[in-house]
Amino acid sequence: PTPARTALEIDQVTKRFKGLVALQDVSLSVPVREIRGIVGPNGSGKTTLFNVISGFYTPTAGRVRLDGNAVTGLTPYRLSLEGIARTFQNLRLFEDLTVRDNVLVALDRTRTSWIWRYLALPWAVAGYDRSLRGRAEEVLQRFGLSDFADAIPRLLPYGIQRRVEIARAMASSPSLLLLDEPAAGLNGDEVGRLAEIVRSIRDSGVTVVVIEHNMGLVMSLCDHITVLSGGRVIADGSPDEVAVDPRVVEAYLGD
Ligand code: ADP
Repeated sequence: PTPARTALEIDQVTKRFKGLVALQDVSLSVPVREIRGIVGPNGSGKTTLFNVISGFYTPTAGRVRLDGNAVTGLTPYRLSLEGIARTFQNLRLFEDLTVRDNVLVALDRTRTSWIWRYLALPWAVAGYDRSLRGRAEEVLQRFGLSDFADAIPRLLPYGIQRRVEIARAMASSPSLLLLDEPAAGLNGDEVGRLAEIVRSIRDSGVTVVVIEHNMGLVMSLCDHITVLSGGRVIADGSPDEVAVDPRVVEAYLGD
């Protein structure tokens, strides 16, 4: 059988902040359509790794490849055009916009809009705007948010707000979705719903990398887990393999 295509490859990435080494020679490879978990004690480098992948930090050394293409050092904006979307540990939604408008502003826009606007063809611009609105409604429906479309996110239950953030990330039609602690602050039912949503995203062909502290969720959701400790990869394998790895047990006991 031919090996699965690699969606994301991190090759010997090191990230230093002044004297502090946040990531040291980190390598990992995520096949297309995998749900990859990134776990590790506080301060082990998980968020730094996400910031390197999504272009918020430039690595001190090493390479990042997306679908086989070198993307090291590209800006977050360029990387979003290359197909990366992410959510943040602390929600980052537009506070004064409705749920619908939060999704609408994130929809990927083709160049076509500019051409029509430049040529001043109002009927074409109107048609384009209508198609964007239609796509926003599709995204809202897909994530069970249609009933909340006109609401302001911060007035909604926290679990719904988290779902809006995932919907907004998915509105850009990414090929790689990075989720930073998506279960933080969710109750048991909401965690179950989140797992269903992440699986449906994967089933639609998107590769998912998730940082998560909820071990029950990580073990049941992820196909493969990478464990960081002190900025290094200390284990990498299936949930069952990682759970019994003595280095992992030791890293967590020392947390
Ligand atoms: P985790 O997400 O696993 O808790 P982080 O990636 O946030 O770990 O942090 C790893 C290490 O890098 C920590 O020691 C943290 O203090 C440090 N660090 C992260 N970002 C910065 C920064 N912008 N400047 C200086 N140090 C940082």
